Amino acid sequence: MEFLPFALPEIGEEEINEVVECLRSGWITTGSRAKQFEQEFADYLGNNVQALAVNSATSGLHLALEALGVREGDEVILPSYTFTSTAEVVRYLGATPVIVDVDESTFNISVEAIKAAITPNTKAVMPVHFAGLACDMEAIIQLAREHNLFVVEDAAHAFPSTSGGSLVGALGTDATVFSFYANKTMTTAEGGMLVSKRSDVIERAKIMRLHGISRDAFDRYRSEAPSWFYEVVEPGYKYNMPDVCAAIGIHQLRKIDRFQKKRQELAVRYDSLLKSFPVVIPPKAVPGDKHAYHLYPIRIKEEAGISRDEFIQEMSKQKIGCSVHFIPLHRQPVWRDGYKLTREDFSVAERLFNSEVSIPLYTKMRETDQLRVVDAMKKVFGC
Ligand SMILES: *Cc1c(COP(=O)(O)O)cnc(C)c1O
Repeated sequence: MEFLPFALPEIGEEEINEVVECLRSGWITTGSRAKQFEQEFADYLGNNVQALAVNSATSGLHLALEALGVREGDEVILPSYTFTSTAEVVRYLGATPVIVDVDESTFNISVEAIKAAITPNTKAVMPVHFAGLACDMEAIIQLAREHNLFVVEDAAHAFPSTSGGSLVGALGTDATVFSFYANKTMTTAEGGMLVSKRSDVIERAKIMRLHGISRDAFDRYRSEAPSWFYEVVEPGYKYNMPDVCAAIGIHQLRKIDRFQKKRQELAVRYDSLLKSFPVVIPPKAVPGDKHAYHLYPIRIKEEAGISRDEFIQEMSKQKIGCSVHFIPLHRQPVWRDGYKLTREDFSVAERLFNSEVSIPLYTKMRETDQLRVVDAMKKVFGC
């Protein structure tokens, strides 16, 4: 029996051919393909957003906060139930991540917890759309408006998700950042996209993305006039996306609606196959909204008589890969010790973490693969 992975990218001949063409073209770093990818990504989202391709979602989040002027002394509210990127970028800028608990039914940041954490130093809030299920953005945007806070969405899981009928990324928040890491809903191997309707955010991030240089290499290369001159106007970063990666992204983007349908189809089938299992199936999007289903996070009920760790062990014996999302930030030494976070203050995230397991979900998964996962689970639970 072959090992069945927990996640797998779907790379077609289109991506491969585009990468090869890019390699043969003589221009492999950021250039026309990155520009095309940005334009097509912005067009997909609509609502006049602008998009900047970057080399990871982490760098996109960093650029977004930097462009909004987040700095030392500022506090940024974010959920414990996320990947460390969400908090680390706050620290890059010398600001303080204020880590709060989540909502038990959605795994997403609790609006009440945000409210309770606001101080005169709060500058921004970073909702994370866990697994691809959008946060209650209407409530978060309303709260942010009342307290004059920026909203920067960590949408690493959420392409293409909707909230209130609009695509995440086109909701009019200050910035939204998507990830194209290898196991996300679409990939460029490594990469991310920063999107915003705010020209000031985009302009600033564009300069900071490439060393703080006022004109990028590709513009200089294309320029008819002598193009050796450039000016460094800020101490920037090196966060640009190479064309070799954008070449993959251009074709992944064209498949994203099919990818989303496939993920949803698999999720709906899991929902019904696991109905009588001692597990809590993942929360669904509200009617009319779209769930990107980056993950299929189940919770093992106590009545199952088996721990989450034992479950993963048993599945692995049957050659099926599982994962855990996430080890909450309040358990990670850097955040736990640095901010004196205790498990008691994160009772919901604790309960979620102790029972959560993400089972295989990816677009190349066949129905027979899925049945194999369910059969293995049947054996583990003895049901
Ligand atoms: C994957 C992920 C990131 C980081 O994405 P990169 O593109 O690898 O930098 C950030 N936040 C969350 C919630 C993620 O899952």
